[in-house]
Amino acid sequence: MKIDTIRQRLRAFGAQPLHEQRVLRDWVRLQPHDQGRRRAVDFLPKSVREALPAFDVELHAMAQLISQHPSDDGAARLLVGLLDGQSVETVLLPRDGVCVSSQVGCAVGCQFCMTGRDGLIRQVTSGEIVAQVVLARSQRLVKKVVFMGMGEPAHNLDNVMEAIELLGTEGDIGHKNLVFSTVGDVRAFERLAAGPVKPALALSLHTTKASLREVLLPRAPRLTPRELVEHGERYARLTGYPVQFQWTLLEGVNDGIDEMDGIVELLKGKHAVLNMIPYNTIPDLAFKRPSWERARALAAKLHQRGVLTKLRDSAGQDVDGGCGQLRARAASSRSI
Ligand code: SF4
Repeated sequence: MKIDTIRQRLRAFGAQPLHEQRVLRDWVRLQPHDQGRRRAVDFLPKSVREALPAFDVELHAMAQLISQHPSDDGAARLLVGLLDGQSVETVLLPRDGVCVSSQVGCAVGCQFCMTGRDGLIRQVTSGEIVAQVVLARSQRLVKKVVFMGMGEPAHNLDNVMEAIELLGTEGDIGHKNLVFSTVGDVRAFERLAAGPVKPALALSLHTTKASLREVLLPRAPRLTPRELVEHGERYARLTGYPVQFQWTLLEGVNDGIDEMDGIVELLKGKHAVLNMIPYNTIPDLAFKRPSWERARALAAKLHQRGVLTKLRDSAGQDVDGGCGQLRARAASSRSI
């Protein structure tokens, strides 16, 4: 179900806009410490009260926990089943965050990503996106939602924007604690700038060379790294919060001095943070993870040269590698 469908169903039960808002708020907001709390249903019309228990079951069935894989860093990867038998990964992050998936598969085909290998299978609906957050909230406190799981949010813009709007209003998540992550797409920049809830923006940069970007991200929109940074800077000035540039560090590919010089040239003086994330080695793919010491030295040097740089590890990476691997493994074990 899309959120719009949920609203229509509630109206069909006899809910007025205020009732609809309250039911959605209760669904999205319940945190672990609220689980035993009885929902305040007394003010709802009788027809809605009667329909609600069965409808609740439908809402929660949109994202069902198949398996949970905790890691040493405090993260936990969840394999989440959708109603049609498809599955996605949702990651409980340390420090009250959750990373949600916006598509089953992905059409961008980044060379270093497992999710992109099978192409796009289907869109995740806005209801299923929010249901991932609700599932996460049944396990832990959630104050931040990042759209960095499986899929390219800009390729599922209507559903993602609908989910962001609900989470940023009824979901009690601060707008800058919603993070829209994209390889870069002009339509997405326009929608984000015009939307009532303006999330923070994370842009996949990965290289400062247009030609290498076309190889690494073969089906991303043809924006050069410079154009990407210009779009990001406009959005940062509009919202007042910095854009996060993502840099998956690949040994021998984008960890050379030429790329570091390119980063300084592009990002110095911008309202931006560079998130440097050493690649998470995937057995079937040829890319390699550089040592942590090398990554730390590169990040420190960039910082010295005026680029705010944070060295990060991909959450839960000791569990089963990068995004898409849990699902791939579950799919292959089903096909054996
Ligand atoms: Fe898609 Fe993101 Fe994987 Fe690229 S890294 S293929 S955009 S899921």
